[in-house]
Amino acid sequence: MIFLHFYIPIRKQLKIVIIGGGYAGITALTTLLHFMPDADITIVDPRSKHIKITHLHETFRHPLRDFLVPFSVLEKRFGCRHICAEITITEDNIWQWQNNKSITIHEEILEFDYVLIASGAASVRVDRENNVIDLNDFMTVPGPDLLHRYLATATQEKPYISIVGGGATGIQFLFEIAHFIRRQKIECNLRLINGNNRVLQQFPTGFSQYTEARMNDLGIDFYPDTYYREQQKDRILLESKETKQEYELSSLMTLLFVGNRPDNLLSANTFGQVRINQQTMQNIFTAGDCSTYSSCGSNSMSAQSAVRKGKLAARNILRDSSVLKLFEPYLHRDFGYVVSLGPTDAVGWLAVENSVVSGIPALLIKELVESQYDLLLAAGIDTYFL
Ligand SMILES: Cc1cc2nc3c(=O)[nH]c(=O)nc-3n(C[C@H](O)[C@H](O)[C@H](O)COP(=O)(O)OP(=O)(O)OC[C@H]3O[C@@H](n4cnc5c(N)ncnc54)[C@H](O)[C@@H]3O)c2cc1C
Repeated sequence: MIFLHFYIPIRKQLKIVIIGGGYAGITALTTLLHFMPDADITIVDPRSKHIKITHLHETFRHPLRDFLVPFSVLEKRFGCRHICAEITITEDNIWQWQNNKSITIHEEILEFDYVLIASGAASVRVDRENNVIDLNDFMTVPGPDLLHRYLATATQEKPYISIVGGGATGIQFLFEIAHFIRRQKIECNLRLINGNNRVLQQFPTGFSQYTEARMNDLGIDFYPDTYYREQQKDRILLESKETKQEYELSSLMTLLFVGNRPDNLLSANTFGQVRINQQTMQNIFTAGDCSTYSSCGSNSMSAQSAVRKGKLAARNILRDSSVLKLFEPYLHRDFGYVVSLGPTDAVGWLAVENSVVSGIPALLIKELVESQYDLLLAAGIDTYFL
């Protein structure tokens, strides 16, 4: 047995159900198996494949299959079970699971010692026309195929593609598409519509300055302080934030990257246990984008926080099952974030939020962080020491 502080096992084999096989869920899985190799773990996820979602914008230069790992492969690799199902996560259901110590899935009653809810934060789905796509579309169809599908219907000589959302996801897609269009010599224009006055609003201004300058270099039209209203047949309807005036522009299609849905967040104590109406669910933990820990640690919706919460929740599950019930609090602070700007450029911060790095050094940091997760997924090797 590998050593874990305050963990003196009293039971041989725990039964654990992980709801959601994303970054937090998979990290929890590998952590649990690291300390308890014979744990009986079931992952419940409606997808048939784990998605390395932090790479999704790269399908403009790599095959989508490079970023998908079938759960059947993970079952063999880690000796766990995958049930393909979407669980309805409500406060009532959580109470019921806690009281019964079981979950019913497809008429099968699954008894458990612990549940970890790691279902992520669903990206916002908007009522939309046929020529509007969002993040969910890129999970099943490679980026180039999606673009070509719409470009084939263009009647204008140099049509406009509109991208809505200047957050990290929108920017990463914007730059990949800009480079893809250049490489493929496709005749079309790109525009970015953003509700704020600068892109990457959640980061220091150095991020925005660098990114907007690169957008300018690539000839991307930028509409700050502008709200998207709707995409019509071949036009987009926008509204000025300042004047509230609506106006239309020519647009073949719109790509919406308007953020995550905040309505499925679960509150947790600093140890990762779910809290409902100020009551702690002893056997139900949560981690990743769906969780808000009551702690000074980072609750940012990022892969690095998801991984850290997944690890912590797994370790505290083991400690809860041990002789000494001494938990570890969540204290993780983000130590950086890098936004890629196409295949050869990136902008980010490291260690101190105002120390902005760009270009090759930023790209290298991103590669390093991504390879940490690849290692975890491929062989369960944990290199997240901080
Ligand atoms: C294009 C893109 C690039 C990004 N780049 C970065 C980056 O560079 N750095 C960074 O730190 N972060 C990045 N992020 C954010 C990061 O991907 C997320 O913060 C991270 O994936 C959150 O992990 P998670 O496990 O909470 O959720 P997810 O990874 O989203 O996994 C959730 C899983 O739960 C499953 N699920 C959902 N609902 C249910 C249900 N009801 N029942 C059962 N299963 C369910 C889903 O199918 C999914 O498999 C990026 C995100 C995107 C979209």
